[in-house]
Amino acid sequence: ALASLNVKQTYSDRCIFINNEWHDAVSKKTFPTINPATAEVICQVAEGEKADVEKAVKAAKDAFKLGSPWRRMDASHRGLLLSRLADCIERDAAYLAELETLDNGKPYAVSYTVDVPMVVKCLRYYAGWADKWEGKTIPIDGDYFCYTRHELIGVCGQIIPWNFPLLMQAWKLGPALATGNTVVMKVAEQTPLTALYVASLIKEVGFPAGVVNIIPGMGPTAGAAIASHMDVDKVAFTGSTEVGHLILKASSSSNLKKVTLELGGKSPNIILSDANMAEAVEQSHFALFFNQGQCCCAGSRTYVQESIYDEFVERSVERAKKRTVGDPFDLNTEQGPQVQNSSRRFLATSAAGSVMVLSSCAAADRGYFIQPTIFRDVKDDMTIAREEGGIFGPVMQILKFKSLDEVIERANDSKYGLAAAVFTQNIDKAHYISNGLRAGTVWINCYDVFGAQAPFGGYKASGIGRELGEYGLDNYTEVKTVTIKVPQKNS
Ligand code: NAD
Repeated sequence: ALASLNVKQTYSDRCIFINNEWHDAVSKKTFPTINPATAEVICQVAEGEKADVEKAVKAAKDAFKLGSPWRRMDASHRGLLLSRLADCIERDAAYLAELETLDNGKPYAVSYTVDVPMVVKCLRYYAGWADKWEGKTIPIDGDYFCYTRHELIGVCGQIIPWNFPLLMQAWKLGPALATGNTVVMKVAEQTPLTALYVASLIKEVGFPAGVVNIIPGMGPTAGAAIASHMDVDKVAFTGSTEVGHLILKASSSSNLKKVTLELGGKSPNIILSDANMAEAVEQSHFALFFNQGQCCCAGSRTYVQESIYDEFVERSVERAKKRTVGDPFDLNTEQGPQVQNSSRRFLATSAAGSVMVLSSCAAADRGYFIQPTIFRDVKDDMTIAREEGGIFGPVMQILKFKSLDEVIERANDSKYGLAAAVFTQNIDKAHYISNGLRAGTVWINCYDVFGAQAPFGGYKASGIGRELGEYGLDNYTEVKTVTIKVPQKNS
């Protein structure tokens, strides 16, 4: 696998993508991207900064000037280009999955069967919307004809994280391009490679120059330059809640650009005593440990009803002990390395009063591997039950509860509200809990089920706005009301 990567990863893929061309950073700086399985440098990548953001924003602004090829393009053709992009990603699925695994560390079996197919489905879904995103005619009072147009917002800054590099790119590009915007995207510094390969496909399928511009670089330089740029009309950010605050501040102190945020979570996963035990244990394991525990929506507060608590903990520990941690290119591997070394910080995490029932330790002598870890008797006020940061990894917290109302209240006692789940065989209890939870997504008897058709996003400090589905289009649309005087209206 690695040999084929070396052949295909060309020099140009490591540069900044502006106006459908490859550029070195204005500063000529580069930074290394690391293979987290070995801690070795894969290659150097151009490091975009403010000056590069300036170039990219200018290109994106030119690309949506009145009369430009992009503005003159039929909406159906925009959809066709997105559809062709999906086709190319599907054609190169094996390569992209290899590259994602190399740069991010997630198991190849997951990159190939989960990430890449979800990318393709997301782009195809939004390709279909391009010529169906219709305005309305509106019966206002008086002799007027009134209608709305769904218009592009303009230059959209998009800043994405490292945990699902390809998928986050697709979630951002799909709705932005379907609705006719232009894009300046900053990819995460830990995982720039697949997004840059997709840039070459964007050029291949024929998007006009300047419609999509992609900058690898650091958050406080390139990312901040996008968030505070006066000619960026909207910024969509996925990442930590701390940086989400900075993005909003940057908008407020620059041009009040529109902001959508997909931030962190500390999602409650509630197991009632009547749940199917085997299923609940397996799904709760998946809810936390999937993607090396690096999911914004991870079920990181597992609330278990007291009568089944001990058995649930025991069975969860047994399951976690069986988890295969190792070489992400081995098809039997369930868990690869963490994306970055700093994710090992939580090895030092301790919480007085809780009991570590499965010990955390480094799982290999090189690379950023960590064994699954489980804490029992976790209390709501412990940092490991409240904060996402510092413990964004394979660490499960299991808490005990007695009654439904109690668990709803405790589940909601969080600054976050991204996702939640409930496991029970009683549909009335499932609805009661689901309706009481303050979270953007609730899964019942399942976890991490995503569809490009269904919206995703957070209540409270987990975000602003929704991605995916029809709702995702709103974030990329200005609604223009046009009112025309007519001689005499008839109903
Ligand atoms: P992060 O916030 O540090 O970084 C995310 C992106 O923001 C990166 O591209 C980074 O370079 C950039 N960035 C950093 N500082 C910046 C600044 N000052 N200005 C502008 N951009 C800046 O987060 P991370 O550690 O890379 O990602 C993990 C976090 O993302 C977790 O907290 C996770 O919950 C969250 N996340 C949320 C979702 C969601 O959909 N809600 C999805 C994935 C990840």
